[in-house]
Amino acid sequence: MSAQHPRPGITHDNRFFWEGLAQHKLLIQRCTSCHRLQHPPAPMCPGCHCFEMEAIEASGRGTVHSFVVAHHPPIPPFEYPNVIVLVELEEGTRLVSRLVGTPPDEVAIGMAVAVEFEQVADDFVLHRFRSAASR
Ligand SMILES: [Zn+2]
Repeated sequence: MSAQHPRPGITHDNRFFWEGLAQHKLLIQRCTSCHRLQHPPAPMCPGCHCFEMEAIEASGRGTVHSFVVAHHPPIPPFEYPNVIVLVELEEGTRLVSRLVGTPPDEVAIGMAVAVEFEQVADDFVLHRFRSAASR
């Protein structure tokens, strides 16, 4: 039996994000006052200290801002080498995710990527990214 995927901590502030993923939507928190985007979700806007937040649906397109390749220690259920990317979304915020479909030695800063949705369990969907050139 394979290891269970670790679950995120669901809070009042980030629930919309995980519910969005379940519907294959990448939702990003936006301040209703100054329209600043922020991820991960938080209760307060760091720009104007407003507490009124909404969510916008991101296109899922972006570029690799930075990345690391995890080799050790291998932690089930993740596959190794595991390419962890910090994606700069075209909307202007960044998101940590996993890159699939590109060998680690071919991953490059600035590479165009697009989101995919992975059904990890019956009730749990995660985002991951793939090279936009390979689509
Ligand atoms: Zn604000």
